[in-house]
Amino acid sequence: MDYETIIGLEVHAQLQTRSKMYCRCSADYAAAPPNTHVCPVCLGMPGVLPVINQQAIEYTIMTALALNCTVSDYTRFDRKNYPYPDLMKGYQISQSYVPVGYNGYLTIDINDKKKKVGIDNVHLEEDVARLVHRDRPGGEACSLVDVNRAGVPLMEIVGEPELRSPEEARQYLMELRSILQYLGVSTANMEEGSFRCDANISIRPEGISELSAKVEVKNMNSFRAVYRALEYEVRRQIKAAEEGKKLVQETRGWVEDSGVTVSQRSKEYAQDYRYFPEPDLPPLVISRDWVEEIKEKLPELPEARRQRLVTDYGLSIYDADLLTVSKTTADYFEECLVSPARDLSPREHAKQVANWIIGEFSHLLNVTNTDVADMVEKVSPGALCDLIQLVSRGDISGTGAKQVFEEMFNTGKAAGDIVREKGLSQISDAGELEATVSQVIAENPQALTDFKAGKEQALKFLVGQIMKATRGRANPQLVNQLLREKLEGE
Ligand code: ZN
Ligand code: MN
Repeated sequence: MDYETIIGLEVHAQLQTRSKMYCRCSADYAAAPPNTHVCPVCLGMPGVLPVINQQAIEYTIMTALALNCTVSDYTRFDRKNYPYPDLMKGYQISQSYVPVGYNGYLTIDINDKKKKVGIDNVHLEEDVARLVHRDRPGGEACSLVDVNRAGVPLMEIVGEPELRSPEEARQYLMELRSILQYLGVSTANMEEGSFRCDANISIRPEGISELSAKVEVKNMNSFRAVYRALEYEVRRQIKAAEEGKKLVQETRGWVEDSGVTVSQRSKEYAQDYRYFPEPDLPPLVISRDWVEEIKEKLPELPEARRQRLVTDYGLSIYDADLLTVSKTTADYFEECLVSPARDLSPREHAKQVANWIIGEFSHLLNVTNTDVADMVEKVSPGALCDLIQLVSRGDISGTGAKQVFEEMFNTGKAAGDIVREKGLSQISDAGELEATVSQVIAENPQALTDFKAGKEQALKFLVGQIMKATRGRANPQLVNQLLREKLEGE
């Protein structure tokens, strides 16, 4: 029997506001000592009153608009009641009935086809405290509470169960992350926990329309983890169904090291939370003028930018995709285009820049575990353009340029200085190369004979030998030309 996979994602993104959601404490807590960004409101003291953070509402409206949602005329907050040590008040102020935005969609690319994935709603709530589990000196286990994170604005984006594979889920998350980063409303960094995903997943026999028990999977800290956890669940659920086991609605946690999900608890339902309107906050009227104002100043979004890079610079869709996933990378790319290398057309220059970013630069960021956010500090756009200029003028070879780039990346030195220090400048002077060419021919009589016998391979071999002798500095075109002249004259 064939099964269909049904996946719906809920994403929580911390908003980059200066203060917390309902109090004046700084929301920039990541580097702060524990329990220093706290006040009676976010500590959940009795009798205190929350105040709505206007910036958080604005960021949520921006997100709702970018996700093609309808923005509510009127919104309000609700209490979600549950007891847990990381929840100071015993309830979370969230939105259950009238979210800021609803009924939108996000577009993903699957096998070169565009697919619209529904967004049920975008709403606001608050983050909880952080629990740290430690052993006391005697070995006894204990848990510590850091309240700095409690009350940081958390936006939740609830997707419709319209994703049909782990790959679609991955695309959806990548696109959503890009959109939030382009809007500048969240750092949307999964590893740092400012972008968290819970996945609802179920399977059903192909052709059947009702949904079976859905499993909620949590604890995934990277895109790769989401993908692996979903793949694991698909396999697990199909196997259970084929063995005639009944699947139950439950919450499971992903265990990264062993690559499995384990049952945590039976799934709770909305009614378990006893939602009711938050009595300490007034309902909020969102004026149409305000929404229009926000719409006017929305920045360019990833999809539009991708299209523009293709149209304006003649890039392939593939290259444009890679360059626009992160806003930092796309910004960097466009900064490199301000002053193109003199010997190249603007489009040729753009292609060169794209090649460097997608190739060498990404590779080095990867192996050194450097965040794209630090790209500019590693090699400034001006410095990369200088390097491209050196190559296009023939001052250094392509191979030499890679060495220079790596050195630039590691030391921050200018391309020209590295070329001088390392003696990497390309030999483009025929007089300087002739002696080496003659010597290499003399040392390889067999290759000469082979060439005379019409074997073109022999020429390639000799070029290789000359490049080796000049430590890659010889201009390859010139070497080819000189060799041919010499060999044909012998
Ligand atoms: Zn506070
Ligand atoms: Mn939530």
